[in-house]
Amino acid sequence: MLRSLNNFLKTLLDFVLPDLCVSCEAPVEKKRRFICNECWKKLIMIQNQPEWYDRNLIRSSFSLFEFREDTEIQKIIHAFKYSGMKSIGIILGEEIGKLLKEKQADYILPVPLHIAKLRERKYNQSLYIAKGIEKVTGWKVLEEALKRINYTKSQTGLNFSERQKNVSGAFRVNKRYSELLRGSSVLITDDVITTGATINECAKILKDAGVREIHTASCAFAGGN
Ligand SMILES: [Zn+2]
Repeated sequence: MLRSLNNFLKTLLDFVLPDLCVSCEAPVEKKRRFICNECWKKLIMIQNQPEWYDRNLIRSSFSLFEFREDTEIQKIIHAFKYSGMKSIGIILGEEIGKLLKEKQADYILPVPLHIAKLRERKYNQSLYIAKGIEKVTGWKVLEEALKRINYTKSQTGLNFSERQKNVSGAFRVNKRYSELLRGSSVLITDDVITTGATINECAKILKDAGVREIHTASCAFAGGN
């Protein structure tokens, strides 16, 4: 009870108060309510998109920022994933959407969390990125088209092949959406791409389900580190 009240307050405060930078705690302007201009300027935008993905499955990938530990981007992602600041995902999603607008997708599919993890975390961060992109592009978010059926252990500290094994068979396409997805073009969203094992796995089952074209987008890319 206390915990859910706590979460409720956090969510409420996120939309009412905030206005301190998640990185340096300086007051922020209304435009980007979670980060001050100084810290925003320190973020490293990715110029050349890395081709980490399986090209038989995925057409293109876009990540907004380079992920570096102990820097502003890590603090942003942490606040977004663990402190209830969903608005961060929406704002970053809008930034991504503006840069992706040239591309075309029918649907946006957030990488799903397992139901047990969703209960624990209260929300799926990838969904909020998807919502931000939807606001700018008009592509429709399908929140439940992808399902996570295995409770996978954390990917942290695993190398590429361990990650691949860890997520193998972890997802399936929700049957209610198979008709809609067949022949469509989709954009998969995630917060941080590290090895890309998770998204490649999602792409594999989407291809099997008859999706024509797959793109992906994330707030940050950590694979270069
Ligand atoms: Zn700051």
